[in-house]
Amino acid sequence: MALLPPIVSAFNTDRSSLTDCLNEANVPILISSSVGWSQAIQPFNLRFTPVPNVVVTPRNIHDVQSAVKCASQAKVKVSVKGGGHSYGAYGLAGVMIIDMVGFQDVTLDSTTQIARVGAGMRLGNMASKLFGLGGRALPHGTCPSVGVGGHATLGGFGIDSRMWGLLVDTVVKLDVVLADGTATTVSATSHPDLFWALRGAGPGFAVVTAFYFQTLPAPAVNINWMYTYNFTSAATAAAACQFATGWAQQHAPKELGFGIILAPGGVFAIQGVYYGPKATYQSIIAPLLEKMKGLHKGKSSASTVQQLGWIDSLTALAGAPLDTPPQGDNSHNTFYVKSLDTRESAPISLQALTSLFTYLFNTTPPSGSQWFINSYLYGGSGSKITSFPPSTDPASTSSYAGRDSGYVWQLYGYTGDTQPPFDAAIIGFVKGMVEALGAEVAGLPAYAAYVDTALAKEEAQVRYWGARVPRLKAIKAAVDPWAVLFNPQGF
Ligand SMILES: Cc1cc2nc3c(=O)[nH]c(=O)nc-3n(C[C@H](O)[C@H](O)[C@H](O)COP(=O)(O)OP(=O)(O)OC[C@H]3O[C@@H](n4cnc5c(N)ncnc54)[C@H](O)[C@@H]3O)c2cc1C
Repeated sequence: MALLPPIVSAFNTDRSSLTDCLNEANVPILISSSVGWSQAIQPFNLRFTPVPNVVVTPRNIHDVQSAVKCASQAKVKVSVKGGGHSYGAYGLAGVMIIDMVGFQDVTLDSTTQIARVGAGMRLGNMASKLFGLGGRALPHGTCPSVGVGGHATLGGFGIDSRMWGLLVDTVVKLDVVLADGTATTVSATSHPDLFWALRGAGPGFAVVTAFYFQTLPAPAVNINWMYTYNFTSAATAAAACQFATGWAQQHAPKELGFGIILAPGGVFAIQGVYYGPKATYQSIIAPLLEKMKGLHKGKSSASTVQQLGWIDSLTALAGAPLDTPPQGDNSHNTFYVKSLDTRESAPISLQALTSLFTYLFNTTPPSGSQWFINSYLYGGSGSKITSFPPSTDPASTSSYAGRDSGYVWQLYGYTGDTQPPFDAAIIGFVKGMVEALGAEVAGLPAYAAYVDTALAKEEAQVRYWGARVPRLKAIKAAVDPWAVLFNPQGF
């Protein structure tokens, strides 16, 4: 990729020149005295209190171009805010923020079934709109207020992803503004290096203004299922965990989304969705339930098995309505997370699981805090995540790194009322979970969408993108030589 020419010959480092430039270009902005400022700079994770100088609220691509050029001239770092759900508040990390809230269009090409989705969309609103456009759907996470901007550039795992792939795998094209202010379209044939980088390591490579996704027909029949057990011994909980995760990896068809959820008090749930008839689901899951019942001393679990339509299935997974106000969404938490991406070929051993459950049973978490762990199957038989790219054509690969995942674990500690203040001891408690798993998980990859703010940048890059790091660095140097676009753990 050729180096881009400089867009200015002299840099002006005076920050007031930034707002002057934005005003001159007639770009809508918020500054600290503006009505709506505190809401505009509030991230989902209230552990962070970002302090940008200015928030730009572009109405169109032209405004984005002007804003990026002004920031480049003023030599300030730019971050893009989608839904504001980065675990590290990275959408609000720059001196100038480009808030994509004005980009809410969703249209569908009825011939190709490719949807063009504005980069300010939240997942719940996107799902509702797509379903309204002839029953179309995409794979993505369950939280309706997560933004498509950070989700479709870093991964985008949903319970349906073993069947359909990650959200990033459905991207066929992107409309972007480059760091020099140029607006362009990126695809396998136009800026292929950037297309590769934007699908897995995207934040910091360009400002995405719209995504083009290959949609799928929403399944008519969805079986949302969950079985909750209570274990009182670490050894039994570990045996259940090893059996359930191993069973799913071996026997779950790609239509069976599968995860485990662990919570205080010995709570051990297995949960997912089967995309197909209930009778088929019941025959698939029966051997697992039989074994789990045995481990649970013959006691039945609390169970929910519901046959639902697509939108009702997504709503039940979310535990909340899908529609989210694009501005002023008030869902928050105050938390720290670590993630572990285990190899399909190397499941966590019984010994390590026993050590984890011993820690969970015997360690008192910091006063007033809460925790949970979830682990979702990415691999297993026929998984579209691990069999991507669908062809050997190099243009179809992406920078998303977890193609040999077994399970992705998320270890999560938060304040009991979800509000600040955050006790830093929660970070130590969460790290203790990983330490309890021991040497066999040390150095495992992590999932870039589950930002681990405790990792130094270099370590984070290796954990998130592994062997792809040198190519990502080279692409960044080519498309953004002055590092105008900012992602704290990115390039
Ligand atoms: C409650 C909750 C549930 C979640 N559930 C899941 C899940 O089920 N599956 C899963 O895979 N992940 C899940 N995540 C993680 C989620 O995918 C990431 O946090 C994601 O990055 C959030 O995107 P955002 O746009 O809301 O966040 P933001 O903070 O706005 O953005 C995140 C990053 O993306 C960049 N970015 C945003 N928009 C653009 C754009 N238009 N152009 C360029 N860069 C952009 C930002 O600069 C920032 O670096 C969840 C997160 C939360 C908080």
